[in-house]
Amino acid sequence: MKIAKKAHKLADAFEIRHGDSFRLKDYDPADAGSIQSKDKDKAIELLQQSVAVLQELQEKLYAQDQWAVLLIFQAMDAAGKDSLIKHVMSGVNPEGCDVASFKQPSAEELDHDFLWRTTRRLPERGKIGIFNRSYYEEVLVVRVHPEFLAKQHLPAQLITKKIWKERYEDIRNFESYLSRNGTVIRKFFLHVSKEEQKRRFLARLDEAEKNWKFSEADVHERRHWDEYMNAYEDMIRHTATPEAPWYVVPADSKWITHLTVSAAIIQTLKELNLQFPKVDKERRKQLEVARQALLK
Ligand code: ATP
Ligand code: MG
Repeated sequence: MKIAKKAHKLADAFEIRHGDSFRLKDYDPADAGSIQSKDKDKAIELLQQSVAVLQELQEKLYAQDQWAVLLIFQAMDAAGKDSLIKHVMSGVNPEGCDVASFKQPSAEELDHDFLWRTTRRLPERGKIGIFNRSYYEEVLVVRVHPEFLAKQHLPAQLITKKIWKERYEDIRNFESYLSRNGTVIRKFFLHVSKEEQKRRFLARLDEAEKNWKFSEADVHERRHWDEYMNAYEDMIRHTATPEAPWYVVPADSKWITHLTVSAAIIQTLKELNLQFPKVDKERRKQLEVARQALLK
């Protein structure tokens, strides 16, 4: 089987459109489907070609100016979000693509509803918007650390046991609203194992040029690993939908991660059947007039 086909199968295997029976333990962070380590050179070649394919698709998306594409990336630290985003977008015209990173919210952001800060960064028609973290933090880090919820100035009677279910519902409704307005949403959870995260943290300590990436806080957060995994599982169960599926991407090997995500993005764009706007007879006449005027 060709490597491109293997990559597509990989993306399909990790796509979740219905969360009801989703269990995170069925997904192995080191899974590579039918891809073997001997495929690596071919995979890297394919990734380079994918950049060009993506670039072409993005140009059509922009020219057609109808669909917007929102790609959401969530992960534990050191799962490789940043390098993935850098890689996937390396060939795309910067005019056609915006990356928004969501960190700890500011005082102004905390004074608004939880979707507010992200709505301001949604992609417009013709563009690809990338969310490096997103409103999903509101059911992940905020769930694992109730002290963050306490800082959100919510009226006390609105903070009940149901709050997470309510947030899932709000997110589903929001994503369905966006879909109905022509925003295509794909969500990626880079699923790294606890052991691989440890190896990557150690590399940040051992290799001088990686020292800047090391953060004591990230290591501290490992203590909450199981709580995070439960929160991720519950989140995917409640927010994986046919119009806004989650991909649980194996993240213990970076090239497998890149291959899976880039196949998923290309597949998504291809399904849109993007075309350059057609020039009708009338317009062709106008273009001819313009040509003659220029030639004079
Ligand atoms: P990198 O470490 O690669 O620069 P990062 O995305 O991990 O990227 P950091 O500044 O290290 O960026 O971390 C941002 C932190 O902000 C994360 O721990 C994340 O969980 C937290 N965060 C994001 N959104 C919220 C939120 N709504 N409420 C509280 N914390 C949040
Ligand atoms: Mg970080």
